[in-house]
Amino acid sequence: MLPTDNHVHTRWSWDTAASSGMELACARAVELGLPGIAFTEHLDFTTWSHGDTGRQLGIGPRPHVRPLDVPGYTADIARCRETFPELRIYSGVETGEPHLFSGAVAAVLAAGEFDRVLGSLHAIDCDGSLDFVDATLFGKLDPLDLMRRYLAELLVLVESCSVFGVLAHCDYPRRYWPARDVGEYPEAEFEDGYRAVFDALASSGRTLEINTRSPLASVELVRWWWQEGGDAVSFGSDAHDPHSVGSRFDLAVDIVEAAGFKPGRDRHDFWRR
Ligand SMILES: [Zn+2]
Ligand SMILES: [Zn+2]
Repeated sequence: MLPTDNHVHTRWSWDTAASSGMELACARAVELGLPGIAFTEHLDFTTWSHGDTGRQLGIGPRPHVRPLDVPGYTADIARCRETFPELRIYSGVETGEPHLFSGAVAAVLAAGEFDRVLGSLHAIDCDGSLDFVDATLFGKLDPLDLMRRYLAELLVLVESCSVFGVLAHCDYPRRYWPARDVGEYPEAEFEDGYRAVFDALASSGRTLEINTRSPLASVELVRWWWQEGGDAVSFGSDAHDPHSVGSRFDLAVDIVEAAGFKPGRDRHDFWRR
């Protein structure tokens, strides 16, 4: 039996097409037999708000990022809950760099009701500006160095920010790893960095996401999470279109199971140790 998809974007996210409606994503989840779906729309900011701890970084406006329309999104969730009573539908947000935008994130969370709050690091501080991690950044920095900087910043995020319950795609830069130039992603090279993040996440009783849009985690990597005391695993497709809901969950479930985790208390729960 496949688990809930705890990481799905729809037209309410700034990087998702208007045709990616919530209803279509729900229909796909029902078709796959998923017990639930969480709509974790992007919560990103381009300017600093009161209480943000990242103020000293000189970021300028980042193109394309749009604020989340919380009332519109919430009304859409309510409609879907009526239309799909057989599916458990969670509200949620994916907070980008929440340790830097702490004030802005707190204000949005206080204004709505969110079942799932994901914490994500999509951008890192490069000489005082906040740069998205992508192929362009890999072209500017040494790949090993970029990945080490990323994991170091991710540790700061986990240790200094408690607004989120699930850490999303813990090795996000892996999506852009320049394998053609430098060979396969050397996961073991970064074991210490992963373990430090997992230790901090586990000590604070939070959940690690297995992201199936990213290159799939190895059994070894998920076992590091288990060994560092991780209790719970969440599955997230990070779908930005309805057809990607639940994508590769069959493979992800096998990996997580091989690392020692089992389905939780009921079919709506995270997987547990
Ligand atoms: Zn993300
Ligand atoms: Zn996402």
